[in-house]
Amino acid sequence: MAAIELRGLTKVYPGGVKALDALDLAIPDGEFFALLGPSGCGKTTLLRTIAGLETASGGAVVIGGRDVTGVQPGGRDVAMVFQDYALFPHMDVTDNIAYPLRIKKVAKGARRDKAAEVGARLGLDHLMDRRPGQLSGGQQQRVALARVMATQAQAYLFDEPLSNLDARLRLEARTFLKKLQRELGVTTVFVTHDQAEALAMADRMAVMEAGHIRQIGTPAEVFQRPANTFVAGFIGSTPMNLLDGTVRGDTLEVAGCKIAVPASAGGPLSDGEKIVYGVRPEYLTYSAGPAEGAFGGQVAIVENLGASHLATLDVNDVSVQVVVPEGSEPAVGDDGYAVPRRDRALVYRNGELV
Ligand code: ATP
Repeated sequence: MAAIELRGLTKVYPGGVKALDALDLAIPDGEFFALLGPSGCGKTTLLRTIAGLETASGGAVVIGGRDVTGVQPGGRDVAMVFQDYALFPHMDVTDNIAYPLRIKKVAKGARRDKAAEVGARLGLDHLMDRRPGQLSGGQQQRVALARVMATQAQAYLFDEPLSNLDARLRLEARTFLKKLQRELGVTTVFVTHDQAEALAMADRMAVMEAGHIRQIGTPAEVFQRPANTFVAGFIGSTPMNLLDGTVRGDTLEVAGCKIAVPASAGGPLSDGEKIVYGVRPEYLTYSAGPAEGAFGGQVAIVENLGASHLATLDVNDVSVQVVVPEGSEPAVGDDGYAVPRRDRALVYRNGELV
């Protein structure tokens, strides 16, 4: 059992910055959990408080059923990979990987065997005699991971472990790390500011803002049904269209257009009520000719996304973005229409999903 539970966890730094504000979070045993959010929202503080590298100002950290709030980092049975890898420059790969075992007073032979086994698993077997300065960024990252994985711990904590890798290596490492975590089955908390990484790797994720958790869910839940306009605006490689609207009987008036109420709108909407209408550019269908229930306007910008294009329509002075498949992209100045998918559009009232 190595579930991680945070109860009302608060961290106020000297000087008064409240980095964590009464957070509650339960991560079940074996889960791969991502912490995502903009710079300064408290991700690293949360990870360091779980590790015991920061002391909580209030609340509790419970790991594997044990309250470890007052316990020193060494007594918490968690292993952490830092953003800068924190490798020892004067030690070779074997000694770097085996270091935590040396601290635990494991015999030299057993340490070397374990380092060799984990190193091989991470494809480092031909590099075991090298020092960190003789390795590429990606290889150093693997050594840092191997060092954590050589340690038997109840939980692994990763702080942006892929941030120093170039784009291609990052993609490789993503797949590799996910596979490894699944094989080992150790509860893992992973901090990233890269939403694609969180969506691709996590079993579940939390989106943070200014010391608060704004949503917890599977990547699919967070992507498809952002709980509030903050998460809606934050998640998505092209930002969601979030447009002011008004309820008009059984339809919506959004950007001066008559738009159907989304299928998912749970609660009743009152006539005349102000709402925010949310729809991802991927869930709008572009049409060159007029279409019922569409946003109609003029094409202002067309951006190349590779396999598709992102067209920005000027709809009564409001910008609406729509992804257009390759080959049917419009030209700037064209009249254009964008039909929302009713099953994918969302309604927000006072910033919260209805
Ligand atoms: P990033 O993605 O930029 O690393 P983050 O989400 O990890 O950011 P934290 O590093 O946890 O954010 O910082 C949360 C808040 O606490 C920020 O406002 C930051 O300036 C503040 N902070 C962090 N460390 C300290 C410290 N040692 N003393 C005072 N304030 C701090």
